[in-house]
Amino acid sequence: MTAINGKFFASGSSDSCLAILSFAEEGGISVELEDRIQVYSESYFEVEPELGRTPRIIRFNDGSLFETTDLDAFKSFESQLKHKPFIAWVGLLERNWRTATASVVAVGVFCVLFFMYGIPAIAMHVAGVVPQSLRVKMSEDTMRLMSKTKVLEASEIDSERRDTLEKVFFDAIEEGGFSRDTDFEYKLSFRNAPFIGKNAFALPSGEIVFTDDLVEACSDEQILSIMLHEIAHVELQHGIRSLIQNSGIIIIITLAIGDANGVSNLVSSLPTLLAESHYSQKFEIEADSFSCRQLQNSGYSPDLLGDSLKILHEGAIEMPLEDLLSTHPSLKARLANIEKSKLSRSELRN
Ligand SMILES: [Zn+2]
Repeated sequence: MTAINGKFFASGSSDSCLAILSFAEEGGISVELEDRIQVYSESYFEVEPELGRTPRIIRFNDGSLFETTDLDAFKSFESQLKHKPFIAWVGLLERNWRTATASVVAVGVFCVLFFMYGIPAIAMHVAGVVPQSLRVKMSEDTMRLMSKTKVLEASEIDSERRDTLEKVFFDAIEEGGFSRDTDFEYKLSFRNAPFIGKNAFALPSGEIVFTDDLVEACSDEQILSIMLHEIAHVELQHGIRSLIQNSGIIIIITLAIGDANGVSNLVSSLPTLLAESHYSQKFEIEADSFSCRQLQNSGYSPDLLGDSLKILHEGAIEMPLEDLLSTHPSLKARLANIEKSKLSRSELRN
């Protein structure tokens, strides 16, 4: 029978006493101390994985532990244990650095693939089953909050221009056949928004909002190119998908770090920011390409979108890390994408 000399630490104590570890006759293991013998059945202890030449440790479920430097004797003892605790497997990995490195690489590759394809696929699926009633509720809540905080105020665009743009909007929806198979409720809204400046955004319900500044800066045709970009956000459910994807990333990073407080918050915010900007830049490019194709199919120049984007970006200073951190791609990247998205004569719908 194997008997191993070592030290015993009672629960919560840093003082140790001499102890002898061996298999108990009645099964399990026994720890012989000066004044008593403790017996533990196999489910009441855990063997810590082997770490190089450091002392071997057995942890007992009452919080006490046994430690020994007699590594060879412990190895023989361990090999005779009936149940191999899961962590023995960790020890094997630690001994075999190639396996350990390969495991780390495999986990990394899995995370990257899950981030690139898994989360977007889940988001696309979930967005597909969100009912229009919920989309309307989310959109109304957003508008209510933006109005309450005075980010959005009543529009000062005259009714004649609004009527013209409404006609342009609903003609484009008719022409594109949008909402024929879906239940989006398309609606065009105008708001005065000095804080936002020249901009437009789409709500998941199908409501598209233009700021007065943007309407005043663009021609009707340039507005059409932006409407088509926003219609793409609605049709492809970019808003809800972003929401799901970004929440997914935050949940995963919080789980990985194991704590969402203090320093971890700072550590987790950068990857979250990078992931969010990656996802939203992808959606912006997708919406631009969609607008380009629709413009061409309706007999307009796709360059109208490029002109509108230049107006939107006017006065904006592009920062060195903009491509990496911004929610929108740089103007240069968007103009290059427009060139790429132009349809050839043979691809045009007749
Ligand atoms: Zn957009």
